[in-house]
Amino acid sequence: MDMQDFSVAKKDIRNKGLDLQVVYHSHPHDPARPSITDIKIATDYEEIWPKINLPIPAYLLISLMEKSKPDIRGYWIKGGSVTQAHITTTTLAGLLKTAPNVVLSSSEPSAGTPPHPGGAY
Ligand SMILES: [Zn+2]
Repeated sequence: MDMQDFSVAKKDIRNKGLDLQVVYHSHPHDPARPSITDIKIATDYEEIWPKINLPIPAYLLISLMEKSKPDIRGYWIKGGSVTQAHITTTTLAGLLKTAPNVVLSSSEPSAGTPPHPGGAY
């Protein structure tokens, strides 16, 4: 997602009266915890969020190691350190109901690719 995509997403968020709360992606073959790449990207983005007037989001990771039982965990990543975020099942149900395909088909970003800041929930 480049800055123009960000701009479009931000307008969409505003127009729908939503707040950006979570950025998510899945780990098809790894546990639901931030990789070194995830932490690096999140740390890089810490400077970008305020510039585009968006709050620093929580990061939601979905592990598909057990496909019938995805493991979903939330984290705050700030200053290079990771703390587990409390994500309620209501939030998750809403997220999965709204974007089940996106949630289950997105995958680990490769190095140098930003995470998927499309989760405006
Ligand atoms: Zn990841």
